[in-house]
Amino acid sequence: FAPWTDPAATPFIRFENITKKYGNFTAVSNLSLDIYEREFFSLLGPSGCGKTTLMRMLAGFEEPTEGRILLQGQDISGVPPYRRPTNMMFQSYALFPHMTVEKNIAFGLEQDRLSKGEIEARVQEMLKLVKLEEFARRKPGQLSGGQRQRVALARSLAKRPKVLLLDEPLGALDRKLREETQFELMDIQHTLGLTFLIVTHDQEEAMTVSDRIAVMDKGVIVQVATPAEIYEAPNSRYVADFIGDINIMEATVVSAGSGNGSPGAVSLDCDGLAVAVAADQECPASAGDRVAFAIRPEKVRISLDQPADTSVNAAYGEVWDIGYLGDFSVFLVSFADGRIIRAAQANVSRLVDRPITFGDMVWLTWPRDAGLVLTR
Ligand code: ATP
Repeated sequence: FAPWTDPAATPFIRFENITKKYGNFTAVSNLSLDIYEREFFSLLGPSGCGKTTLMRMLAGFEEPTEGRILLQGQDISGVPPYRRPTNMMFQSYALFPHMTVEKNIAFGLEQDRLSKGEIEARVQEMLKLVKLEEFARRKPGQLSGGQRQRVALARSLAKRPKVLLLDEPLGALDRKLREETQFELMDIQHTLGLTFLIVTHDQEEAMTVSDRIAVMDKGVIVQVATPAEIYEAPNSRYVADFIGDINIMEATVVSAGSGNGSPGAVSLDCDGLAVAVAADQECPASAGDRVAFAIRPEKVRISLDQPADTSVNAAYGEVWDIGYLGDFSVFLVSFADGRIIRAAQANVSRLVDRPITFGDMVWLTWPRDAGLVLTR
């Protein structure tokens, strides 16, 4: 069940026409966004695009210049951070170095004047949740980076917020630990049934953990969708380029729509290379428009043999470079005019009779429904 696909579902968090200005500078511009209960939602974008500012406004550390934020339908303007049902975990973790792990976790609960018994019970529950029971008496300086990150997580969750805000939570961890922790975060989010909002500039991280992602650019949201939709159907060059690897070529529309027999059929001229695209949706461009043709490297097949099937798209070029990545290899194939298309092949095919190598002349092929026409 995906609440965002249900028009009757009430958003848990609603950003309504939010603008945030610092002096003359607009950090967030007339932005609207709905996030649903129990979603693991990511704000993704390059440095300075306004992700953290948006999160800080939800936490109450900043007030919007215009617009309002609703939490479960209630306008939370002017409500101080400590009275909001949100809690923010910072990248720096901000642990108290002189306090033990359990004291760090208990700190916010003591401030809230919970009973001793209740505090003890919650600290134990949190230690168990983040698998740090054995480390309760240690101080942050006696822990690894990953363990410190868990203490920070436990402390943020101890107060039982309805929404946990995570600002680049895994930025300080090495790659392997980061990947493990991503799955742990998802597990904890499922177990507790909370709404998680994460800020990240790491597209793989956003793809891994999120139910949905908002891709941001210069204070606005460019696309909001599930990871698979963002990857398979980016709505713009910006999103296509930001998420994963993709070949993008400038093109002119030769014909689009009904003339080709099917509403989603488009013929393109990629400056000398004819490409046919079949999409399940109507192409918003018409003949003569300048657009971009985009295709993921893993959708491009590479072969020494000319394709027999004339219904597929084909291009001929020279292998200019090969990147070996273990599970697959990326071939950079250069055309006569110097343009390059990248083709990624799983390395199971390394067992074929004659492997492809530098300087080989090769055929690149891809089916009509594998490419995208991007109009912006
Ligand atoms: P990063 O990943 O680098 O943290 P971000 O997308 O989270 O980037 P924000 O921190 O939201 O970006 O900042 C957005 C823009 O607003 C930046 O250009 C930043 O310099 C500016 N900004 C943020 N806070 C302030 C402030 N207090 N005063 C002036 N400008 C600010």
